[in-house]
Amino acid sequence: MDFTLPPDLAALRAKVRAFVDERVIPSEDAILAEDAQGREDRLRDLREAAKAAGLWTPHLPREYGGLGLGVSGMCALFREMGRSLVGAKVFNCDAPDQGNMELLRVAASTEVRDLWLRPLAAGEITSGFSMTEPAPGAGSDPSLLRTTAQRDGDHFVINGHKWYTTGGGRAAILIVLARTSAEPRTGATMFLVERGAPGVEFVRDIPCMAPAMLSHREAEMRYVNVRVPASAVLGNVGDGFALAQARLVPARLTHCMRWLGLADRALRLCIPYVTRRESFGRALAEHQAIQMMFAENAAAIHAGNLMTWHCATLLEEGREKEARPYSSMAKNHVARALCKVLDDAIQMHGGLGYSEDRPFALWYRVARASRLADGADEVHRMVVARDFLKGRLETLV
Ligand SMILES: Cc1cc2nc3c(=O)[nH]c(=O)nc-3n(C[C@H](O)[C@H](O)[C@H](O)COP(=O)(O)OP(=O)(O)OC[C@H]3O[C@@H](n4cnc5c(N)ncnc54)[C@H](O)[C@@H]3O)c2cc1C
Repeated sequence: MDFTLPPDLAALRAKVRAFVDERVIPSEDAILAEDAQGREDRLRDLREAAKAAGLWTPHLPREYGGLGLGVSGMCALFREMGRSLVGAKVFNCDAPDQGNMELLRVAASTEVRDLWLRPLAAGEITSGFSMTEPAPGAGSDPSLLRTTAQRDGDHFVINGHKWYTTGGGRAAILIVLARTSAEPRTGATMFLVERGAPGVEFVRDIPCMAPAMLSHREAEMRYVNVRVPASAVLGNVGDGFALAQARLVPARLTHCMRWLGLADRALRLCIPYVTRRESFGRALAEHQAIQMMFAENAAAIHAGNLMTWHCATLLEEGREKEARPYSSMAKNHVARALCKVLDDAIQMHGGLGYSEDRPFALWYRVARASRLADGADEVHRMVVARDFLKGRLETLV
């Protein structure tokens, strides 16, 4: 077991780290302020600079302008980018685009890839992933899927109501999961739908706990008699549930990587305050209750990092099925660790932590979604328990 990064990757990580420290973090407030006003001048400049520095879309193969990194390589870089809320967007590997690019790469026809993956990879357009439906439709339980796609000659006609299609309002393309038969395993199909197609209705961006920022605007969508050609099917008819898993397992691991970066930055940002602020005759850092918070959170970040690396290794070796419960374990653990770190960061900073003078309150509002998006905590725990009980999960790897 060697935890040292290969020299090429270590050099790349250093480059990304420096770019995030020197360019992204100093601009993050201004980028978010511009975004709130509907502008993106600074973001555009930084994205151009990331391209020029050879750090663009690192997850994609070189033929799409990426760096051809494996999952472990992504781990190393995404943690660095995740230290800033705007980091992943700067390098064109934010959710949901990153997972969608990967899905199009493996499941779309050459024609669809040329038409849509290339502009997505170039950062010219954005995309949405439209799976979740308001109750009583598909949420934690995908078998409740109600959106339908009925065959009509060489077309399909899609009807349904979705929400939490992140970025759906501004996206050029949407990947829509719809029911094509009543079969439990093979009854769903994924379609590539153009946002501008007749019948694709953007209802609203749902007001949420965190402010809308960049692509993270939670769209409610309706699909009303949307006609798509058979070539819009991703993979084959009936592959929908399997493709959703194929997309979600690595995508949730990339979430873990970004969240680890943010958790690490948040915990480090606590150091100046607790070392300078005095209480009852000594610095906060000298009180055991504060030390416990550092010890527990540092251990939680480290454990999450190891879980993520381990799962990345399985994916890289093509052991996707085996990786599934480990990805659930990592996602559940890292999401909770991130929320705990931020809650403790607020606590350690007292009133200052609760104020908007420090970033923790905003980050906490953003981070809270991590325990729901891409599967609620309870569902991931259910997967871990189920596989452990069936002997499919080895805790002493
Ligand atoms: C910020 C954000 C972004 C998102 N982006 C996307 C996106 O881009 N595309 C997309 O398709 N979806 C997206 N989602 C939706 C997300 O995947 C769902 O919210 C999630 O899967 C839970 O489904 P639900 O909201 O319908 O909750 P429900 O299924 O209604 O579940 C409610 C709660 O019940 C509990 N629960 C559910 N099942 C079990 C169980 N088996 N055992 C015990 N307790 C259980 C959990 O506590 C859960 O939170 C996003 C969500 C958020 C918050």
